[in-house]
Amino acid sequence: MRHYIKAVLHKEEGAEDPQESYDGFMIYGTDVLEYPQRYSDIKEFLAQTDKNKVRATLGLGSPVEILNGVLAGIDIFESDYPLTQASLGHALQIQKIEEGKSECTISDIQLSKLLETKQQHCINLNKEEFKESKEPLVKGCQCYTCKNYNRAYLYHMLEVKEMNANILIAIHNVAQFDLLFSQIRDNVKSIGAFIQDYAQLNCIDK
Ligand SMILES: [Zn+2]
Repeated sequence: MRHYIKAVLHKEEGAEDPQESYDGFMIYGTDVLEYPQRYSDIKEFLAQTDKNKVRATLGLGSPVEILNGVLAGIDIFESDYPLTQASLGHALQIQKIEEGKSECTISDIQLSKLLETKQQHCINLNKEEFKESKEPLVKGCQCYTCKNYNRAYLYHMLEVKEMNANILIAIHNVAQFDLLFSQIRDNVKSIGAFIQDYAQLNCIDK
């Protein structure tokens, strides 16, 4: 596993077996790998570790990458995706999936392949089509930005290069990531069905 470095999240003083003394594992280097090697390597690495310990990673940032990481067995993700998208004027479009809506009809491998053909649905607020739009970024979103501003206002702020535009979009995108992760936690026992629904509702083809 030359791509990965096991990092100690917490190490007890004087413990003899290093693996026993870890609270978990941090996986690095996933961003330099391509699909499907990225996830097969993660699974191979995790198979060697205690499944009761926390597994964290850097480098899987988009919702599609995160969902594929969840399928592989990752618990914690560090991602700057909401902020990098906001800096480009892109607002995430994540709708809540109804719990228990459907059962997963395909295998984990097919699900992983399906995710790789998808990308997160975002809107680019620099586009003129939003110039007159009185809609919030996402209908029903409870974030500060969606409660107080519409797409046309954010389009205008981006056009005049007002830096608050990116901050307001970042507030929305971070709220959307909170929704994504709360839904992953709520659906952890039927994660396959959730991911299948998520890909259908919140993603577009690459
Ligand atoms: Zn919002």
